[in-house]
Parts: sequence; C-alpha cells; structure tokens
Amino acid sequence: MKFNFSDYSFAAQVGTDLVNTSPEVRTVGDALADPDAVARFLTEHELRTGIITHGDAPSTRDVDDLHVLRREIRSILEMETEDAVAHAANALVERAGTGPFLDRDDSGRWQWYVATPANTSLGDELAVLVGTGLLGVLHTLSHDRFRHCTASDCRGVFVDTSKAGRRRYCMPGVCGNRRNVASYRARQLAADKARTQRKGRTDA
Ligand SMILES: [Zn+2]
Repeated sequence: MKFNFSDYSFAAQVGTDLVNTSPEVRTVGDALADPDAVARFLTEHELRTGIITHGDAPSTRDVDDLHVLRREIRSILEMETEDAVAHAANALVERAGTGPFLDRDDSGRWQWYVATPANTSLGDELAVLVGTGLLGVLHTLSHDRFRHCTASDCRGVFVDTSKAGRRRYCMPGVCGNRRNVASYRARQLAADKARTQRKGRTDA
C-alpha cells in the first residue's frame, strides 16, 4: 500500500472512523463485526490496501487485527501528553512503513509518499496510514485536535482536522442530530412546564 504522506487529514479521518466502529461507541453494535464489514470500510474509504489490489477478501484474522488496532488508536487519542502521542504514533508507523519517497501523483505533481511492503497485513497497513495521520495532525495542527465527542450519550473520540478547529462530534451527522433532537425536546418540556405553571396560577 502506498499513500500520500502530506494528506494527514484523510489518514486521521480513517483513524477516527476506525475507532468509532467499535460497539462501545455504536449503540447498534460493532460496525466492523466480520470480513464483509471490513471490506465495506475499505471500499467506503477508497483504501487501496494489498488485499483490495490483489482482489482478495479480508479474513477473520484481519477483523481481529483491526479490533486491536482501533483500541490502540483510541488509547492514543486519549493520551494526555504530546510526547506520549508522538511515541505511540511513531510506533504504529514503524510496524511496516517505508519511505518517505517522492513520486508523481495522478496529475503529474510530485508528492511525498509512505509505503508498506507487499506482504504487509491489513492491520499493519492501516496502522502505518493512521500513525502518519496522527503525527501530521500533531505536527501541523495541535494535540488539542484529539477530542472526545461532546454529545452526552456518546463515547466516541475523533481528530478534528477542520480549518476552524471547532468540531464537536465524532460523527457529526449522527451525534450532532441526536443532540439537536435532545435540546429541542428539553426546550419543549420547559415550555410545557411553564405553560402548566401559568395555567395553575390563572386557575387559582
Ligand atoms: Zn459522538
């Protein structure tokens, strides 16, 4: 697998998405429960990993490896010091990373790349990808971009690579909406209560 070393946003987002497939975040269960789910994850993220390139399917071993990897990534996102993050993310890259090297992209421009050898396991390929993403965020943005989701009933974590750096939810489409619905209900409840109190005073 070969990927653009400069595109830390994409690599960090893969890390975020991988962590949040876990059943502790998803109330509906494990979003990476079997080889088919892993295949879908790779396709959705357009990850040209070794098994995709060779036309193979993920194995149950790959599933187990990704379950371990997502726990490791989560622990890195929750680390308290920058030095601990750098150490742990460097270790992910060292598992199989080679390079960086310079090559032309599809439009002919020179880009920095990192690669993994042909026989690297899927877990190690994604470890290298996500590891470089986390290092890129630490280097270019800052450690406070590693965050917990602010939706009260969500245990998700995420890396905020947005320009403004104001992202609050691990899965904005899901947790943001859930929170909007919850605050709408709370406002309705407060309005109902106020109405009842006013009515009580009028009746008295
Ligand atoms: Zn969330």
